[in-house]
Amino acid sequence: MTSAKARTALKKYFGYDEFRPLQQSIIEHVYAGHDGIVLMPTGGGKSMCFQIPAVTMTGTAVVVSPLISLMKDQVDGLKAAGIRAAYLNSSQRGAESHGVEQAYENGELHLLYVSPEKLLSSGFFTFLKRRRVCLFAIDEAHCISAWGHDFRPEYTMLRQLKSAFPEVPVLALTATADRLTRKDMAEQLGIPDAKQFIASFNRPNLSLEVRPGQKRREQIVRFIRERPNQAGIVYCLSRKQTEQLAEKLREAGYNAEAYHAGLNADRRAEVQADFINDKTLIVCATIAFGMGIDKSNVRWVIHYTMPKNLENYYQEIGRAGRDGTKADTLLFYSYNDYTTLKDMITGGGNAEIQLAKLERMKEYAESLACRRRILLNYFSEDHGDDCGNCDVCANPPERFDGTVIAQKALSAVARLKQSVAIGMAIDVLRGSSRQDVLKQGFDQVKTYGAGRDMSTYDWNQYFNQLISLGYLYVAHEDYNKLRLAPAARRVLFEGETVELVKFQTIRDRKKQEEGKTAKRAAAPRTRGSLFDALRELRRTLAREAAIPPYLIFSDKTLEEMAAAEPTTPRALSRISGVGEVKLARFGDHFLQAIKQYAGTSDAAAEEPTPRVRGGASTDPTPDHLVTYAAYRKGSPVREIARQQGISPGLAYRHLAQAYREGHELDIADLLPEPAIDWIDEAVRSLPSGAGRKDVLAYIAENQREGVVRSHHLELAEAFRIRHPLPTAP
Ligand code: ADP
Ligand code: ZN
Repeated sequence: MTSAKARTALKKYFGYDEFRPLQQSIIEHVYAGHDGIVLMPTGGGKSMCFQIPAVTMTGTAVVVSPLISLMKDQVDGLKAAGIRAAYLNSSQRGAESHGVEQAYENGELHLLYVSPEKLLSSGFFTFLKRRRVCLFAIDEAHCISAWGHDFRPEYTMLRQLKSAFPEVPVLALTATADRLTRKDMAEQLGIPDAKQFIASFNRPNLSLEVRPGQKRREQIVRFIRERPNQAGIVYCLSRKQTEQLAEKLREAGYNAEAYHAGLNADRRAEVQADFINDKTLIVCATIAFGMGIDKSNVRWVIHYTMPKNLENYYQEIGRAGRDGTKADTLLFYSYNDYTTLKDMITGGGNAEIQLAKLERMKEYAESLACRRRILLNYFSEDHGDDCGNCDVCANPPERFDGTVIAQKALSAVARLKQSVAIGMAIDVLRGSSRQDVLKQGFDQVKTYGAGRDMSTYDWNQYFNQLISLGYLYVAHEDYNKLRLAPAARRVLFEGETVELVKFQTIRDRKKQEEGKTAKRAAAPRTRGSLFDALRELRRTLAREAAIPPYLIFSDKTLEEMAAAEPTTPRALSRISGVGEVKLARFGDHFLQAIKQYAGTSDAAAEEPTPRVRGGASTDPTPDHLVTYAAYRKGSPVREIARQQGISPGLAYRHLAQAYREGHELDIADLLPEPAIDWIDEAVRSLPSGAGRKDVLAYIAENQREGVVRSHHLELAEAFRIRHPLPTAP
């Protein structure tokens, strides 16, 4: 078999022009009948390594996967590309599995996905032998090894495979397996001499950023606000955190849900399905979320708290940007999180190794050198150069003589008799008049107020640096009280100088982000809006086809379309990701949308523009009036949003628009009494030309964010248009 054939299939079915590094060698290795071990990061393109052999070789490729929830999506995606695929697992009814078995026996299947239980059920090998199996692909193969972190006993039976089918090549694929686990994997599968293919773990399209964990929720809201319509995951440590954060995000007008092991199975499935189908954009989850999803258009991942080790971290951020186009990741870090994790691990199983891993995680979070280099080093890859796509590369740390700061901090700890934790030390330095400070007489301490000139935030930064530098340590066993390390003496009494690193303050960061937003807003909107139109079309088509939107075309493919604006099927087929079957099935819709956007559509001159959302072009009701009508009928806003597949924030904007246009609405139901006053006050106090952001910031600064939500602004604006304030004489 020639690789030309593989390449033709790649274009025909998947619409891609080139194999990624290693894919082609792996495919040829399989063609030659050999066994192989494939280690590639999440999103690296493992599936292609067995899907191409499946569609080009005689016989059926059998794929063993432990993730039943994924099977259906994978099979749907393959079918959409014109590949004959099916699955068998315990979730199916008799009639359905019978049909699949029939198809296999008729030699109609390119691929058959099975769960390990199914594969090893009695009589199944005999059944498989009635036709020809061209390849066994073992997905998530690390599950076979007790060394791995995800051991599944049922996988160990897979060793029977090689003896039952000695002539069929076995391909074991995984995204996480250190050297020992890989060796064990190969032995367990009876393919000890299989060639190992190890791809680079670098995912250059993922940006890496670590921020100090202060005001996390506010930071998250700001982060999301800058990424409208993008899907993302926030990983939290506890169930409670997921619930609270999701609630907070909903209040801020975003479409967010919590996901954790405490929810019942139906609810979990629902959240997952809504996320996959772009109905819920944001999921706040414990680590349990993500294993069973293949969604390629996750555009960002945030870690609300630090994971226990870099393996978990890398796997979790790896769920963003699988389509290869730009995606952002953000990790919040505080020393407290570290101590919490440390406590959790200490005393648990395998504590020593776990603690060592936690230390590496902490080093990464505190690093002042390119983060990607550290990460890749950890996975035994030497990247050589700084990456240019992490926060450290973007803002190389600036060092300065921090001796005075260090002296203040250390002497505060000394004078407080090493009996307080970071928070209190900072309060004393800043001269806080908090009850707790005064009650203990700390206002009499000599350093009280000596650090008024710096914010709590900055102090926190510098305390953490002093801990990392070894001048201070935290007595975990004694309420995390700060203690002086021997080195502190040298600073306090022997004139040692201390070099600190200047961190960005929140204010710096705010300014920077505002600059970015302004830049984004100033960029020509045209490209963006064609992309939005295509994304909207993709949603509609996905709903009709009952498959997740990303299975129709990836974000990357839509981006290319929006940039190239193809207007003929030929030109469209040149876009990466547009294969033959998808071209035939969806091509016209997308061409039509592009033509309309370019204003060249013949139809556009005669007919009113067909509406994309809602599908039916005969329905002329604008979206905001659909929302309005539903609200008038008595449905709660959140319910309407859910039904329409829009965010609650957008639903409120719809209502505000309807109200502004003169439709009747009891505005007091939507806009609590004090909110309108405070918004008025903010608007009055701010210079004219202040934006919505400024208004919200003003309100937040005045501690009123608990009452005023961002959607109130829309409504208040609409209210003031209809009921203007009397102008000052
Ligand atoms: P993994 O299973 O390793 O996590 P996937 O097989 O799901 O990764 O592939 C990730 C994404 O990369 C998918 O959207 C897939 O279509 C795309 N992809 C795979 N191979 C190629 C290629 N050669 N060219 C372009 N895109 C590819
Ligand atoms: Zn970097």
